[in-house]
Amino acid sequence: RDAGFREKLQFSQHLEGKAEAVSDFVRSKSFSEQRQYLPIYAARDDLLGVVRENQVVVVVGETGSGKTTQLTQYLHEDGYTRTGLVGCTQPRRVAAMSVARRVSEEMGTALGDEVGYAIRFEDVTSPNTKIKYMTDGVLLRETLKDADLDRYRVIIMDEAHERSLDTDVLFGILKEVVARRRDFKLIVTSATLNAEKFSEFFGGAPVFHIPGRTFPVNIIFSRTPCEDYVEAAVKQAIHMTSGPGDILIFMTGQEEIETACYALAERMEQIVSSSTKAVPKLSILPIYSQLPADLQAKIFQKAEEGTRKCIVATNIAETSLTVDGILYVIDTGYGKMKVYNPRMGMDALQVFPCSRAAADQRAGRAGRTGPGTCYRLFTESAYQNEMLPNPVPEIQRTNLGNVVLLLKSLNVENLLDFDFMDPPPQENILNSMYQLWLLGALNNVGGLTSLGRKMVEFPLDPTLAKMLHMGKELGCVDEVLTIVSMLSVPSVFFRPKDRAEESDAAKEKFFVPESDHLTLLNVYLQWESNQYRGDCWRYAQEAIIKCDWCNDHFLNVKGLQKAREVRSQLLDILKTLKIPLSSCRMEWDVVRKAICSAYFQNAARLKGVGEYVNCQNGTPCHLHPSSALYGLGYTPDYIVYHELVLTKKEYMQCVSAVDPQWLAELAPMFFSVKEGDTSFLDRRRWHDEEKTVMEGEMEKLRQEQAEATGR
Ligand code: ADP
Ligand code: MG
Repeated sequence: RDAGFREKLQFSQHLEGKAEAVSDFVRSKSFSEQRQYLPIYAARDDLLGVVRENQVVVVVGETGSGKTTQLTQYLHEDGYTRTGLVGCTQPRRVAAMSVARRVSEEMGTALGDEVGYAIRFEDVTSPNTKIKYMTDGVLLRETLKDADLDRYRVIIMDEAHERSLDTDVLFGILKEVVARRRDFKLIVTSATLNAEKFSEFFGGAPVFHIPGRTFPVNIIFSRTPCEDYVEAAVKQAIHMTSGPGDILIFMTGQEEIETACYALAERMEQIVSSSTKAVPKLSILPIYSQLPADLQAKIFQKAEEGTRKCIVATNIAETSLTVDGILYVIDTGYGKMKVYNPRMGMDALQVFPCSRAAADQRAGRAGRTGPGTCYRLFTESAYQNEMLPNPVPEIQRTNLGNVVLLLKSLNVENLLDFDFMDPPPQENILNSMYQLWLLGALNNVGGLTSLGRKMVEFPLDPTLAKMLHMGKELGCVDEVLTIVSMLSVPSVFFRPKDRAEESDAAKEKFFVPESDHLTLLNVYLQWESNQYRGDCWRYAQEAIIKCDWCNDHFLNVKGLQKAREVRSQLLDILKTLKIPLSSCRMEWDVVRKAICSAYFQNAARLKGVGEYVNCQNGTPCHLHPSSALYGLGYTPDYIVYHELVLTKKEYMQCVSAVDPQWLAELAPMFFSVKEGDTSFLDRRRWHDEEKTVMEGEMEKLRQEQAEATGR
């Protein structure tokens, strides 16, 4: 009996193994079929031929033709990975992760093995890795350690048409690598825009066109300008109950997307409950960069039978991610852009009408599977007369602090001479240099100081790097490190719409009255003292029950874990710089002083009831409702803030009360204690004088250099 049993067991295991093998086969076959169906497949051999014969190639193809997922694999199959990595850059983190996952599935390997990705604070590669997807920022930082990028055999600069800040800087740097390394290949890919320009920049590189396969898209403009595009988009989506085909809605950001999804769900429920007929179900799927990865992956899954997908996305779905099966696009005509605001002297994310090129790109998403329709929630006249033909490259509209610091440490002496495809306005370069000078990263003639050199080591904004440095000076690295890490991840406070009050009350328990930064520190420390757990055991109602610590406190455990990872990576960098982990042991005023030193450019003074003005430029600004200070109704005379967000008002996000004495001590050029009310005019005059001096000295230096090199 026993032997018979064993036999049965073995046989059933054998069958199971067979079944797995069969399903593996089916799966891989369907992948290879899918790969062969892509437009790029027909061009594979020609494309590889052109790459073999040229050092730089520009590849142009409709979105969804297979550039991002296939090119790397073709190069791998053609043997390029025998002598180095094939790297592929993406302007967006979500794209780098999601595409790497997809390609690893297509190749049948575990993610992080032969195919991996790297984004800031997250490296999912191994010594085995042959194909590496990464953000353009990651590659840019790699050039700091290895100027010739010797590990790479080929770099694909993907989505180059997006013209992200880092892509644009990479253009200049990679052009030099191409000149220095004969064995290095560069492929620049672009949706239909800009190809000629890229080719010209690389001395007339060939442009390879992937023959497209698209269907016509019927475009319907709004007849009148629309008042509330979220409302309008929801209405439009609800009206399209007929026929199959998935829907894609473009919005500007997370908050709007959540509002829209909520409204969609509500309306659908009403329709279902009031209708006597069976209504087709709608599967509502948000996608934006801060959405957890497992939820992001959902947009690619097939909807259940009888259900259609309605994806509500930011411009991430414009070109970076392609979802098959979309037949309807609803375009609000807006997008968020980071723009340098000279009046405030800083970057702010602002909502802008998108460009005509972007609108056309969005519409094109409806015509991949069959003839589609695009509903534009703006008028034809707005399209013709108000929208710009092309988006303005990021490099021409943002603060260049990080770029300046990076290029300086790559020994680019003269930024005004760097080979930019579209040079940023000189004013922007000088302004960013000035900001770095204020932080102590640059000296009077625009050279990197030793502090500046240390700041570059951290993959952080210059202000946060400076904060770490001040932590060292003041003996509170431990605390500042935690704050910086918490500021580098999405908000850890979880605020579901239907439990807003409850979650606000939970948050309030963490409040440190004078500081949001310290509140973040407090949250982290409490999580730490709960052994970094999502859950814990608690004694309640005369029994020990298991409760979820994070959930109970409305904290996002993934966010906290991410902060912990970031922290440990920054800690590694501190170790290599031999900076010890000092702690001020709950002397939190010291921490506030370190915070103050990094942000003195973001200092604001109380003026009137609950209203602040920026100390440097007089811009009015308000406490954000999410702030502890706002929540407790505490309005100290002087504060510093992490960033300004522009919605209906100018809101300061993440605020700390500071002692005006500190401001005077740390930034005497701006603040004097005696005259707490020095006129803005005086300060501005001082600014202007200093700036003229610095510019004058730099100009002198430039002339000297030019003479020395005989140019
Ligand atoms: P391109 O870069 O030319 O825009 P891609 O290589 O991104 O094209 O896309 C090719 C195909 O792969 C598309 O049909 C797309 O739907 C599919 N695809 C890409 N990423 C994923 C993913 N994460 N999951 C499922 N399918 C994907
Ligand atoms: Mg792509």
